Amino acid sequence: MYEKGIYGAFTKDDLIVVHELGFDAVFTEATHDLVNSAKDLGIRVYHTIWSFKTNDVRQGVVNAEGEKLLWLGHSGCPNNVHVRRGLLSKVEYIMATLDVDGVVLDGIRFPSPGGGFREYFSCFCNYCRSKAKVMSFDIDEVRRVMFSILRRGLATSAGLLNALERLSSWLEFRCRCIAEVVDSIRELTREYGRELGAAIFTPSLSLLVGQAYETFSKLDFIQPMVYHRGKGVACINYEIGILAEELCKILGLEESQVLSFIYRLLNYEALKPPLKIQDLISKGLPHEVIMKEVSLATRLASVDRLSPIVFIRGENAQVIEKISYRLKELGIHSLTAFSYSRQLLPQLKVLRL
Ligand SMILES: [Zn+2]
Repeated sequence: MYEKGIYGAFTKDDLIVVHELGFDAVFTEATHDLVNSAKDLGIRVYHTIWSFKTNDVRQGVVNAEGEKLLWLGHSGCPNNVHVRRGLLSKVEYIMATLDVDGVVLDGIRFPSPGGGFREYFSCFCNYCRSKAKVMSFDIDEVRRVMFSILRRGLATSAGLLNALERLSSWLEFRCRCIAEVVDSIRELTREYGRELGAAIFTPSLSLLVGQAYETFSKLDFIQPMVYHRGKGVACINYEIGILAEELCKILGLEESQVLSFIYRLLNYEALKPPLKIQDLISKGLPHEVIMKEVSLATRLASVDRLSPIVFIRGENAQVIEKISYRLKELGIHSLTAFSYSRQLLPQLKVLRL
């Protein structure tokens, strides 16, 4: 297991810089030259793979309204056999052709709330439906509930309870499907004697996208994306912001009410997070959220395999130093930075355990 890793695209000179800053692992789209230069410096190289990438809309997800789409514009259904085959052959190709230390799975999940409910309320394709049948989940009923929520909202509390019950079985189904994919890749990387890691959603949100921490505990390392600020999917503030926006529509409530409710569920209230969606998305959450999430992760997975990814962009060096110190107090002994840039050298210098 590495101690200090960093995501990015690196030149030979960049590798020298990160080596001097004490980083011992890089996460990137590896090439022969990069692997060779990194090895000379004693830096480990992990190839990152966006798991369900495809350009073919036929391999996309089917949402509750019956539309077929590629989530995030470039990803297919995790249960589609062609998509799964594509991932396995990509992993195998990397291991057969590059002397990397391992691979890291990114996007190893179903669509998230951050993509909006049009993407999130999926997938009901034929592959998912037949898999659900085998696993004894009634996802046709889930689809009916979602369709009704989208069209008519959640008017009565009885409707809400029924919906929650259906949604929780749907979340469990998605977790089991992702576990199946992870297990098949684990087997493959073992054959090649390489490490396997995954960048996964923060523990408070991971079940929403089909990622149970127990599934990933079998891997060599887990990188919880504890991004407290950022303007895209997987960032905690962004995911909560879009989720709140969508819930406002179906519940007919004010955004401050919905946000307060979500913060109460996540135990964020005492941190006084923003009560306006726009502020939450543009300014982010207080950095204390990172410690809350990492502490939760240590209860769900072995600390020896955890390497939280700290989002250093837009955060000043003093705060990064404080975060590093607090993570050390939580018993964390590996960290990963997102992501490399020469402009971020002050932040990278103080990121240490
Ligand atoms: Zn599907």
